[in-house]
Amino acid sequence: MREKIDIEMEKISCPVCGEVEYRFLHREGEFQMVKCSSCQFIYLNPRPTNKSLLHFYQGYLPEGESSVDAWQRMMQSVFQKAANLIDHYKKRGRLLDIGAGFGFFLSEMKERGWEVAGVEISQKALAYARDVLRLTVHEGPLEKIGFPESGFDVVSGFYVIEHLPQPIEFLKECYRILKPGGLLLLRYPHTSPIKSFLRFIGFENRLYDLPAHLSDFSPEMIQQCLKKAGFKEWKHLIGGYTHPREPGKKIASFVFGNLSETLFHLSDQKILFPGASKTVLGFKG
Ligand SMILES: [Zn+2]
Repeated sequence: MREKIDIEMEKISCPVCGEVEYRFLHREGEFQMVKCSSCQFIYLNPRPTNKSLLHFYQGYLPEGESSVDAWQRMMQSVFQKAANLIDHYKKRGRLLDIGAGFGFFLSEMKERGWEVAGVEISQKALAYARDVLRLTVHEGPLEKIGFPESGFDVVSGFYVIEHLPQPIEFLKECYRILKPGGLLLLRYPHTSPIKSFLRFIGFENRLYDLPAHLSDFSPEMIQQCLKKAGFKEWKHLIGGYTHPREPGKKIASFVFGNLSETLFHLSDQKILFPGASKTVLGFKG
């Protein structure tokens, strides 16, 4: 269970382009997602202040052994697909996982012969990764650590970018710390199409997971942001699907995950099913 905390909110301009005008898109409880009038970015506005967010994430990840195991099982197939993808493009080297959580992806990559390190802001996740899995994990946020330039062959982030107040600054930092020819792998949800569809058929839901998610990226928007940050090339994939513990979510993930993968392959890797989570690779060039 998440801790009940007071969240201090602030009104912001578009985190991608700085535009102040927006139109209302969806509401979840007291929170609203809006769409930038200029670049069409979908973001939470008002949103929690940075200080509130740091506090909020101390209670965000599950607690207790069975919850940690369930979390590992939920992510395992996505991690394995990502690991295979990285191995396909890169022959070992240094890998940094941002928002490393408990460290399961880092463990997988370490076993495959990579030199790994992580970044994490949740104290309990940090403690687990360091003490139980014996991994090197730095206390984030990333931008505050100041890694040397061109230090990593691969930087990864699973379900991280939608939580960040300044996504472009984050991507620029990833670009800076990657070696020339380095690879960025991001996994992100794409919720808005499903949200709109469910509202259309009269189904209320809290799929945006507000206020944890500060934005909702489409593949086009991710590509725009990667370009802004300096990346030269990018490639999108479906990259598998998660296995949540709750039966309803599990079935939805299975159905949409398989449908997305099938459409992606039948269309010669052209159709990225709207609403399903996606994996994107950014190449530093
Ligand atoms: Zn904008």
